[in-house]
Amino acid sequence: MIFDKLAQYDYEQLVFCQDEETGLKAIIAIHDTTLGPSLGGLRIWPYQSDEEAIIDVLRLSRGMTYKSAISDLNLGGGKAVIIGDPKEIKSEELFRTFGRFIEGLNGRYITGEDVGSTVEDMETIRKETKYATGVSPELGGCGNPSPFTAHGVYKGIKSAALKAFGTDDLTGKTIAVQGVGNVAYNLCRKLHEDGANLVVSDINKDNVQKAVTEFGATEVDVDAIYDVDCDIFAPCAMGASINDDTIARLKAKVVAGAANNQLKDARHGELLQEKGIVYAPDYVVNAGGIIAIEDALHGFEHERAMEKIDAIYDKVQQIFEYAEKENVATNIAADRLAEERIRKAKEA
Ligand code: NAD
Repeated sequence: MIFDKLAQYDYEQLVFCQDEETGLKAIIAIHDTTLGPSLGGLRIWPYQSDEEAIIDVLRLSRGMTYKSAISDLNLGGGKAVIIGDPKEIKSEELFRTFGRFIEGLNGRYITGEDVGSTVEDMETIRKETKYATGVSPELGGCGNPSPFTAHGVYKGIKSAALKAFGTDDLTGKTIAVQGVGNVAYNLCRKLHEDGANLVVSDINKDNVQKAVTEFGATEVDVDAIYDVDCDIFAPCAMGASINDDTIARLKAKVVAGAANNQLKDARHGELLQEKGIVYAPDYVVNAGGIIAIEDALHGFEHERAMEKIDAIYDKVQQIFEYAEKENVATNIAADRLAEERIRKAKEA
């Protein structure tokens, strides 16, 4: 059964890491190393079953292959999960043990932050292996990747606005932001500085309040965000928010945001296109964090990293052009361009 799952999308390796003493139960998935060592964050989550954790780590690692490929990074796709509640299981020994497992892979997998893991956790892992990124600037890393992700999303939104409205000027545009956490807080600041009107929703009322106070945002209920009369809808919370139900309700001309796996299914990209909504593919516009992390592999330089993240603007245009030429939805165009890059590298 495991080999059938791996064969489905040609995964290279699945590594199970267990340690009785620290309670470590981790899985590392390496999807593809054609373009370089696999890189992807460490998710710490109380999965209900081993099967659920395996499915998640495989799906996420494959996503990283596409994200790095489309972002012109010389990295492959990987991901790790630790099974458990991040509020309960963290300890120095657990992370150091996990670090030793990563070290054993000899650079085939490089870890970083994801849901449930922090800069401090990476620094603990780093005591055992150099294959841990996202550490603080004092240790040569880029620190918390969220502001870099936000910058990339901002560039992606502007690029999609150019396509939809003929100008990337966001002055006076109404932007509905779903979820104002780490990334979206930084994003909202940039959009506010550009003169956009913000409408926000979040299950966390403190986060909403910050956006209201600092950026003059208007608050709406969590579900009402889909009905907002807006120009741009920015999903920055969870996955699958673009689906049959929500597409029917959206009034925006652009969908572009930070969340991973925004489309419930690939066909929802086509539905957006049919409705005349410009969709900037999620893994293209939210690659700012990994671009900064990749930069830090060569000794972090803030300005250089920001320049590379700026290129998301042109990348999104390139995807729109390809989609138009091939008459496919933009999510399909992004997938094909990423696959093309990997195929060419394999042939070479
Ligand atoms: P975060 O947890 O800081 O923020 C997410 C916010 O969404 C939280 O404030 C949460 O309360 C809110 N939320 C959850 N469910 C919601 C709902 N149903 N409706 C409205 N709000 C809801 O996470 P983040 O780091 O800001 O990441 C946001 C998204 O971007 C995630 O999907 C993440 O996977 C993706 N992403 C993040 C990065 C990064 O660098 N942090 C990089 C790439 C992709």
